[in-house]
Amino acid sequence: MLDNLLSIVAPHLCYGCGKTGTLLCQSCKYDIVNDKNEACLVCLGPARSGEICSRCDVAYEKGWFIAEREGPLKDLIDAYKFQRAKAGYAVLAELLGSSLPELTPETFIVPIPTAGDHIRQRGYDHLALIAKEFGRLRHLPVLPVVKRLTNLTQHDLSAEERELAASRAFIVEAKLDPGATYLLLDDIMTTGATLKYAAEAMRAAGAEHIFAAVIARQALD
Ligand SMILES: [Zn+2]
Ligand SMILES: [Zn+2]
Repeated sequence: MLDNLLSIVAPHLCYGCGKTGTLLCQSCKYDIVNDKNEACLVCLGPARSGEICSRCDVAYEKGWFIAEREGPLKDLIDAYKFQRAKAGYAVLAELLGSSLPELTPETFIVPIPTAGDHIRQRGYDHLALIAKEFGRLRHLPVLPVVKRLTNLTQHDLSAEERELAASRAFIVEAKLDPGATYLLLDDIMTTGATLKYAAEAMRAAGAEHIFAAVIARQALD
């Protein structure tokens, strides 16, 4: 409602081409989704879409990302996270829907929990909104079972400090079903530590089939 009102006052401009009307026009959506993503989510080495390559050892079996974090996708997600462009969740969920294959009906979407201070700053939990919309599009339930133990804001940490913080960051208090599939969802993947340790926490809680999906993969240096 408020977002509709705001869009009348200040119409959305496409983050790809600047065209008036939506945050991302059909043609720019098409360009992002159809840019073939033949890379391992973890190392960005060659792998078929969704496949984790044999060199990477993680607790999740498959992993997808919409695109690398650059261009219009980067601008859109940054605006959505940091400038309160709340309408971004629907576009990002749609892009996710176009990038991921069919999932079995026994798949639960598990969003990585957002730090509480970030939710307070933004006034909304950006990833929970995307997870909910993606679940609506795919008719899959959202199961927010991963909890955050620490609320460390990661921006000022070195890579090693971030890894250590991530290894202690998550817990799953529920008992998970070994027959079900759990799709961990995160917005931006940088070092991969968040997904790695969240997946390990899920495995410790009984999950045997874990997939991962992220909106944007930060390019490696
Ligand atoms: Zn456009
Ligand atoms: Zn790999």
